Amino acid sequence: MNLYIDMGGTNLRYQIENREIVISKERDIIYFLKKLTKQESKIDRVNISFAGEIRENIIFSAPNIDIERLDLKSVFPNIEFRVENDLNCAVLAESRYWKSKDIVALYIGTGIGAGVISGGELFKGSSNLAGEIGHIPFKKAPFLCGCGKDNCIELFSSGGAIVKWANYLDKDFKILDKLPPNLYGDFLEGVLYSSSILITLFNPKVLVLGGGVVEKNSFLVNYIQDKISKYAFNPSLKDLKIVKTKLKNAPLEGCRLL
Ligand SMILES: [Zn+2]
Repeated sequence: MNLYIDMGGTNLRYQIENREIVISKERDIIYFLKKLTKQESKIDRVNISFAGEIRENIIFSAPNIDIERLDLKSVFPNIEFRVENDLNCAVLAESRYWKSKDIVALYIGTGIGAGVISGGELFKGSSNLAGEIGHIPFKKAPFLCGCGKDNCIELFSSGGAIVKWANYLDKDFKILDKLPPNLYGDFLEGVLYSSSILITLFNPKVLVLGGGVVEKNSFLVNYIQDKISKYAFNPSLKDLKIVKTKLKNAPLEGCRLL
């Protein structure tokens, strides 16, 4: 029996075969699997979309989750695991949905990251780290990113950034349009900056936006469409479609394809 898990920066979503998707706040993947496989003893294959650094099904680190090195197979020897970065999973699902072989998924949720498919192939890099757009230097922040630097785009243009700034300024804003004007401007600038880097570097046919922050702020898609010509390399915009995801849970759908 198959189990599919999307371990995001905030929530864990899972689905057994084609049953209902369940949302859990559990952050300890081993504890979660032990509990679930006790109830569902027929689970023998687990595909995981994981917000973090993954190589050959081993989890090495996750900027938004406290974890170091984890080979799930060594803990659960009777289960077959397929583990992949969440944005790689998302772009696999998006590529299938949009029927595009040249597609970039830019997702803004707890973090901001991208998955890239170029010429029909997942663009992984030498250690499966390509697409970590959120950790490109942008501006200096008065606190650190999960990656250890203090100047990442993710510190300005992500759901996690809104929380970090609210804590730092001791304010109560939780949503994007309650941000002070300068931070609101930085948020939008970071989103445009990320989009333009991806478009200019990868020359996709489709840039698809998704993630919790985009879901709640659909205007971001129009905003990027309107402003992108001032940021990206213009010839790359000629046949480009910038769209919002139509998928309810692309990382979870994508991990089914692993
Ligand atoms: Zn970072």
